[in-house]
Amino acid sequence: MTSNAPVPHTSADGAAASLKASVLVEALPYIRRFAGKTVVVKYGGNALAGTSDHDALTLFAEDIVLMRLVGMRPIVVHGGGPQISELMERLGKEPQFLDGLRVTDAETVDIARMVLKGQVNPQLVAAINVHGRFAVGISGVDAGLIRATARDEKLGFVGDVTQINPEVIHGLIEDEFIPVIATIGSDETGQAYNINADTVAGAIAEAIGAEKLVYLTDIEGLRRDVADATSLIRQATADELDELVADGIIAGGMIPKVASCTHAVRNGVHRAHILDGRIAHVLLLEVFTDAGIGTMVMQHRDEPPPEQPREGALS
Ligand code: ADP
Ligand code: MG
Repeated sequence: MTSNAPVPHTSADGAAASLKASVLVEALPYIRRFAGKTVVVKYGGNALAGTSDHDALTLFAEDIVLMRLVGMRPIVVHGGGPQISELMERLGKEPQFLDGLRVTDAETVDIARMVLKGQVNPQLVAAINVHGRFAVGISGVDAGLIRATARDEKLGFVGDVTQINPEVIHGLIEDEFIPVIATIGSDETGQAYNINADTVAGAIAEAIGAEKLVYLTDIEGLRRDVADATSLIRQATADELDELVADGIIAGGMIPKVASCTHAVRNGVHRAHILDGRIAHVLLLEVFTDAGIGTMVMQHRDEPPPEQPREGALS
């Protein structure tokens, strides 16, 4: 009679194979849990702009495709601030900021639209579609997805979201596509607005009842002290984040992310995450492994833990 006991690996190759197998097995409960669930991923312009540009984009595309192939429904929302500034400079136009927001005159909103819809969006779509016919690039103007209004006259065509009309997203997801969204919106007259991509990602996650909202940025997560790399906040509730904002601990580009995370988890999105887009395959690590990574935001800390083995272990 032959034994069914597993044969132990003796070689280095065997050990590596065994490790790969255990990683896949570790992913099983997460694959089961997230099958059919929608995840909105915001890919930051800074994450795209770095020197390892190409690699970062390739790895990101692999993660998105893998999520989709195991049955999740990823939606990508992207920014492009550094790329907009770069084209403005090439055109001899000085970027101006007021309280961290780009002053956007008629020419600047044209440039923003060209860069987001003509450069950044097709780059992401193409990187994903290296793996198959998955991604469809749209902007907030398509099918009236993002309705916007001017935030402040002084800022010109910087928009606030007034309404999300998610029908086009539902349609694309039903047809098993991955929507890739450039964050230009329009008002009822057809005027275009440049809208902060963090804000749009949160608003879309809420409008479609996403399971997760994920921000990929250029820092490992929220820090209690922005100058101290060891001060990573691993978990926070919406109320705790409100306090950090009130204390001035959240600044600059983190403000719209945190505001969107707190709003989203209070409005039906189960979890929000702020992750370091510079870490290879950070999305896979977050979604499919037990490794807690970056900052996780939830509505309340005392939620029931079923099927969430890692959450208790993290605090
Ligand atoms: P993105 O392109 O991803 O939107 P941003 O530069 O707009 O990137 O936002 C991320 C930046 O927010 C970080 O690089 C960091 O400098 C800044 N920041 C401000 N406050 C904090 C904080 N408390 N924790 C972490 N980062 C912070
Ligand atoms: Mg930003």
